[in-house]
Amino acid sequence: MDNFKLLINGRLEAGDAQMDVINPATEQVLAACPRASRAQLDRAIAAAKTAYPAWAAKDIAERRKALNVMADIIEANADMLGRILTQEQGKPLKDAVGEARALAANFRDFAKLPLDEKIIEDGAKRHVKTRRRPLGVVALIVPWNFPLVTLGSKIPPALLAGNTVVIKPAPTTPLATLAMGALLKDALPPGVMNIVADANDLGGALTAHPDIAKISFTGSTATGRKVMEAASHDIKRLTLELGGNDAAIVLDDVDVKKSASGIFAGAFRNSGQVCIAVKRLYVHESIYDAMVSELSALAKAAVVGDGLEQGTQLGPLQNRMQYEKVKEILADAAKSGTVLETSAVPPRGYFIAPTIVRDIAEGSRLVDEEQFGPVLPVISYSDPEDALARANATPYGLGASVWSSDPARALKYAQRLEAGTVWINKHSELAAHIPFGGAKQSGLGVERGEEGLAEFTQLQVINAAV
Ligand code: NAD
Repeated sequence: MDNFKLLINGRLEAGDAQMDVINPATEQVLAACPRASRAQLDRAIAAAKTAYPAWAAKDIAERRKALNVMADIIEANADMLGRILTQEQGKPLKDAVGEARALAANFRDFAKLPLDEKIIEDGAKRHVKTRRRPLGVVALIVPWNFPLVTLGSKIPPALLAGNTVVIKPAPTTPLATLAMGALLKDALPPGVMNIVADANDLGGALTAHPDIAKISFTGSTATGRKVMEAASHDIKRLTLELGGNDAAIVLDDVDVKKSASGIFAGAFRNSGQVCIAVKRLYVHESIYDAMVSELSALAKAAVVGDGLEQGTQLGPLQNRMQYEKVKEILADAAKSGTVLETSAVPPRGYFIAPTIVRDIAEGSRLVDEEQFGPVLPVISYSDPEDALARANATPYGLGASVWSSDPARALKYAQRLEAGTVWINKHSELAAHIPFGGAKQSGLGVERGEEGLAEFTQLQVINAAV
């Protein structure tokens, strides 16, 4: 795999340096990737700044059209993008192609969202309306778990609103994003969309740059704090989608088998490397053993392997650092909980089989921290009020779920969970038209939906005397 290029001012160019990208399923070098220098980053920002006025001045109908053209191009190349994504990220090919298709769908879905002026007052004394102006150059920074679809909630609304963008993928998963850039190069005027890959060293310069008007960041809470600091100097606009430690509360009235399969998918999809994965499972004591045994059977039956191989359900952890971290958390969990037997993994690669840990509680790293990997603690409770309090006892507040056969009962608890999204009898579902954001230290602002689109704009009030 070769010939990946940065996208700066409408041109594909080599990096001033290069870096290796590793395939996590084989631990072999997958490709040499261009690595942007500080000068290349500055040129990308300058190109976006130059392109901004003309792009912002276009009729929004033209920008909607451009999003649809980009959707078609991505859709037509979803297989190719998916193959690259599987090899750099690890996820099964079907999921990777699905992610590329979801990116295309995001472009199409955002293109339909309204961005209209609103009349606030039309009286005898004054005429007041609000409108949405673009911000300027927006930095889009993403992590390595869903390199493509994370950009799906950033690129389309940023461009639709009339901004220009500088995209920075994660250093371990830049390739599918660069391939996307090469495909979309001619779908936009030069400089409207720029992509720079780095070795985890340009984020600070990008976020502090005086010509960046807004930062849309998805990543860890620790880096989110740094981004917030960098934004503070110029009061840059900021959307932060950060870490989570989602709790799922299973009430005593569920169909155990049916819920177990939904919970398993919600916890282990993408090998648990999902910001909104089920990361702590609270199960009523009356069905605890039955639930553990269903989940454990699913874990044992899961096929773990190279995402390119037919039949693989779960791939490796994306990078060595995450692999080592999850192994440490698992070793720590073995001290206080019971680690159940699971499926086999290939001898090479950053593989950890989906693992259920029972008889564990708060006070262990697995329960208190964001594991971001395929290890699920199953915690017993006797009083749902107690489960609710324990689910809320975290600095995070991204997602949560309640599982019950009684919708009214589920809703009663759902409304009291301190999370940006609470699902009922499912976990982890997102869509372009549904807003998504974190409570507490899981984020700031929202993405997706009309609210998410609005965050790429400045509200302007026109207040006229009549
Ligand atoms: P990370 O914070 O280490 O990196 C994210 C991105 O930030 C990368 O592109 C990285 O190069 C860049 N970066 C590093 N230092 C920077 C700096 N000083 N300034 C600006 N950017 C900088 O996160 P990660 O380990 O790649 O991703 C995993 C984390 O992301 C988890 O905590 C997960 O929950 C979170 N996440 C959140 C969401 C969400 O929507 N809330 C979605 C996916 C992942």
